Amino acid sequence: MTLEFKAWFQCINGCSGRYPLNEIIYRCPDCGELLEVVHDMDVLRQRSADEWRDLFDQRYRRHDWPYGSSVWGKKELVCPMLDNANIVSTYEGGTNLFWADRLGKQLGLKDLWVKQCGMAHTGSFKDLGMTVLVSMVKQMRAEGKNIRAVACASTGDTSAALAAYCAVADIPAIVFLPKNKVSLTQLIQPITHGVLTLSLDTDFDGCMKMVQEVCSQNDIYLANSMNSLRIEGQKTISFELYQQFDGEIPDFVIVPGGNLGNVSAIAKGFKMLYDLEIIKKLPRLVCAQAQNANPLFRSFQKGFKSFKSIRAKKTLASAIQIGSPVSIKKAIRALQEFDGIVGEASENELANAVGRANKTGLLCCPHTGVALAVLEKLVAGGVIQPKHKVVVISTANGLKFTDFLAKYHAGKLKDVQAECVFQPVELPADSQKVRATILEKLGV
Ligand SMILES: *Cc1c(COP(=O)(O)O)cnc(C)c1O
Ligand SMILES: [Zn+2]
Repeated sequence: MTLEFKAWFQCINGCSGRYPLNEIIYRCPDCGELLEVVHDMDVLRQRSADEWRDLFDQRYRRHDWPYGSSVWGKKELVCPMLDNANIVSTYEGGTNLFWADRLGKQLGLKDLWVKQCGMAHTGSFKDLGMTVLVSMVKQMRAEGKNIRAVACASTGDTSAALAAYCAVADIPAIVFLPKNKVSLTQLIQPITHGVLTLSLDTDFDGCMKMVQEVCSQNDIYLANSMNSLRIEGQKTISFELYQQFDGEIPDFVIVPGGNLGNVSAIAKGFKMLYDLEIIKKLPRLVCAQAQNANPLFRSFQKGFKSFKSIRAKKTLASAIQIGSPVSIKKAIRALQEFDGIVGEASENELANAVGRANKTGLLCCPHTGVALAVLEKLVAGGVIQPKHKVVVISTANGLKFTDFLAKYHAGKLKDVQAECVFQPVELPADSQKVRATILEKLGV
């Protein structure tokens, strides 16, 4: 029997309309709220938990295109109606689950893991969602829909991913970046892919407003995570954790949050496995925010009874410098369902968390630093205990943020008292002096 897997857009407020995934629509026409992708769970349930697990494992990191990609290895649970000929993939996911043994011991934890999502084609976890969105665009263009280009506002990583995937598929793309608020690497990524790069004299929230206006005519397709196709790809982080831990579900998953699509996505992934009875428990979710851009944290402190957008201040964690998160409703619901916690980290805390982690062999970006700093606080507060299995989602590759690292180790970051300062030692090419200096530094 062949099963017909189905998914569609539906309003998160429960309005009754259903819209096909190949329709250009981002918000509910009845109430204006965001849409989400809803899957026909009854069809998915016709395969047992064991059958799904075996299928995922069979495909994982193999050569059978496109299923070797860890996103497309779960195609039936992600975006089932895509024609494989339209899939635009760079072999997503399958990123290393790093056992942070030394860092864990320093914190008093035995079971600390860092999911290295930045070990990706464009150096951040944004590839996971972008492969789904750009594949759908390719399909819609193949069906004759008038989509001239795909556009996004970005704090640097979404634009890098959109640019790369559109370059792979030969689809025009436009990226809206806040001027001087992304790293040099992030700026160069869309440039080198030959994508129209707009550097706007505003912040991310300003770029987000701008791109929505530009996309309102429907001939330019919006690639931000308010487009819930992206969430479907990002949720495979949870599927992959399930796979990599051989079915054991961690007690805590900590992720840095800005626009809040990802914390919602991770929740959606675990919830789906739970609803399909593939897993029997849910982890507690922790969203980590920079103190300078912490609207969700403020809401959490009020028991999520109210939410106010803020004007985000400058933070080293530039990819989460967002004051008006698009996915706020999804995120609050997800956190409530997952007994969630929201933490915050100051500039000093996030930078030194990176410094300490990197000294144990990691190479973290500032956003991962926010998550690690929040982890440190939850351990200090006794919420996370030695018996707990904890995963920190590392969202981008540290190599995208060498400017931050160089300034940290030179002790030149504003509002940061660097605790792990290391600098190169300059010496003449004289072996005796070199050896004497080595012995001195080793304290021999
Ligand atoms: C996008 C991004 C985040 C945050 O994800 P949201 O869905 O915007 O909350 C965190 N870290 C990095 C490096 C990112 O690029
Ligand atoms: Zn609605």
